[in-house]
Amino acid sequence: MQKLVCDRCGLEFLDKDDIDLTIEGKEAWEAACRARGVEPRGILPCKNYIRCGGEIELVASRRRGLMRFLSRRQAN
Ligand SMILES: [Zn+2]
Repeated sequence: MQKLVCDRCGLEFLDKDDIDLTIEGKEAWEAACRARGVEPRGILPCKNYIRCGGEIELVASRRRGLMRFLSRRQAN
């Protein structure tokens, strides 16, 4: 089981169709990043990218400890 999570604001995509569509957009995002001279951290920009500047990462959902850490950091 995998899910997509923003590395800054913690926004999650859990729907399998969303995940499939997002993975299809991965190469375009990576190309856009490299065109700006930066290495992509994740596979897509967050839906809240303008506010949070985060990127969506594909993670195994067993990494819940990390996600709790990230959401605590966001709350502070
Ligand atoms: Zn975000």
